[in-house]
Amino acid sequence: MIHIENFVFNPFAENTYLLHDDTGEAVIIDPGCYDKQELAEITDYIEANGLKPVQIINTHAHIDHVLGIAALKRKYRIPFSLHALDEPLLKAVKSYASNYGFSSFDEPEIDTYLAEGDTVHFGNSSLKVIFVPGHAPGHIAFVNEDQRFVMGGDVLFHMSIGRTDLPGGDHNQLLSSIRSKLFTLPDDYTVYPGHMQLTTIGFEKKNNPFF
Ligand SMILES: [Zn+2]
Ligand SMILES: [Zn+2]
Repeated sequence: MIHIENFVFNPFAENTYLLHDDTGEAVIIDPGCYDKQELAEITDYIEANGLKPVQIINTHAHIDHVLGIAALKRKYRIPFSLHALDEPLLKAVKSYASNYGFSSFDEPEIDTYLAEGDTVHFGNSSLKVIFVPGHAPGHIAFVNEDQRFVMGGDVLFHMSIGRTDLPGGDHNQLLSSIRSKLFTLPDDYTVYPGHMQLTTIGFEKKNNPFF
């Protein structure tokens, strides 16, 4: 049984997720923790629950999703994985971090690349990688069939979709990713987005104003 813990970090109110199962192994998705206090929030939770993080995986590499990667990598000595097409976005973060009020950016090394069809394992659990570009060129999402959820990043939100006015964004590609990859999942799948509250595939198919 996977437990999903949600932290809301940095001024962008970004959702960082920590997934762990009964074995105690955990994966961290999109760690956006920036200052010492935010970092302590997630590490205190990990310690209080006796968890063993095994990997950091990102849906994409916009600044609000990558601020805590380097610190957590160092603390737990675990690999970080990203889709190769988002590597240029990660490399660009340090050039614009100060424009958003972040005085420094600790750029993490990418250890392995993820692509559609890959599976991420932790404990007795696994997540399937799907490719959903548009908000970012290398945006991926993580699907769990047993518990019927998708960790969707900034692709599909409650009554909204990801913005596409950032470098590498492509509105038509985003709509097509949602139609062909997310809206083909069963209606009862829960979507854990990169911002704001949870939703379901069925609710968005019915109510999302972009479709
Ligand atoms: Zn984003
Ligand atoms: Zn975001």
